[in-house]
Amino acid sequence: MRLTYLPHTLYFKHPFIIAHGMRTSTPVVFTEIELDGVIGYGEASMPPYLGENHETVAAFLNKAKDVLARYTTIDDLSGILNEIDSLDKNNTAAKASVDIALHDLLGKITNKPCYSMFGLKKQDAPLTFYTLGIDKPEVLVEKLREAEPYRILKIKLGSDNDKEIINTIRSITDKPISVDVNQGWKEKEYALEMIHWLSGQHVLFVEQPLPKNRLDDVAWLNERSPLDIIADEDVQRFDDVQKLQGIYKGVNIKLMKCTGLFEANRMMLKARELGMKVLIGCMSETSCAVSAAAQLSPLCDWADLDGPLLIKNNCFEGVQFELGKIVLNDLPGIGVVPTKAL
Ligand code: MG
Repeated sequence: MRLTYLPHTLYFKHPFIIAHGMRTSTPVVFTEIELDGVIGYGEASMPPYLGENHETVAAFLNKAKDVLARYTTIDDLSGILNEIDSLDKNNTAAKASVDIALHDLLGKITNKPCYSMFGLKKQDAPLTFYTLGIDKPEVLVEKLREAEPYRILKIKLGSDNDKEIINTIRSITDKPISVDVNQGWKEKEYALEMIHWLSGQHVLFVEQPLPKNRLDDVAWLNERSPLDIIADEDVQRFDDVQKLQGIYKGVNIKLMKCTGLFEANRMMLKARELGMKVLIGCMSETSCAVSAAAQLSPLCDWADLDGPLLIKNNCFEGVQFELGKIVLNDLPGIGVVPTKAL
């Protein structure tokens, strides 16, 4: 198998502020793996706060290239992925780009969409959230207009004017919303007070209210919270799911955090077995990585897969949204077509 890659940058339609500062773009790398003339596509997205960048991904992919060059079939997908995972610690987005491209390739070789390879039905795909970043009321009003076709919204909180943001949204729409605090509240008592207030605002759940690694405080909050609390920054890989049972009500699983579809599927099944809720999320990604994630969305309670809707330069066609519902196509693999030469 032959791996090639191309560094690229995605630009946001609306620059946004989160706890980590103002962001206008995200570095990505597109990966292609070719076997017998068939090409599988993958993507690594690297938000700066996770520690990967163009250079680290390129360095990792050069090592992966040597591993893949030894394989002349894709029959042992899990064996190949284990070998890729053991090449280095971390590098989860780089690993995900290889995992996605290999799943796409396997689907194309066997002529099956990935959702059916995982035993899922595309009609079980959920709605996607449409994300609104922290912003001034007048900007929120404009963004809500763009969010019109979407039936559920995700609001980023963790600023000094959280209640004002919710009040602005509630003055315009009564759509259900989920709240993502991105580690933005610092005290558990304040978080509980806010969650009580939010529980009267048609909120579905609250994601990562406190900074990561504060599991005792989250357990305290979880015991008292009228809303489900979902882990994002606190959950990364398979072993984390079990550790969070009884501390969080559910987990936000993202391909870029957990090394790709293979591990994400195992995490979802584990979370289900433990009675936990499952949200599938994404970083700022094109329709390539998001279509890959969407293949697993029928296994999830909720999906937050609006990445391609929020960027200016998407360069793949893939999963579609109809009135906010995820619509998977019947193409083999992850179901994507590049819209321009990569
Ligand atoms: Mg989050």
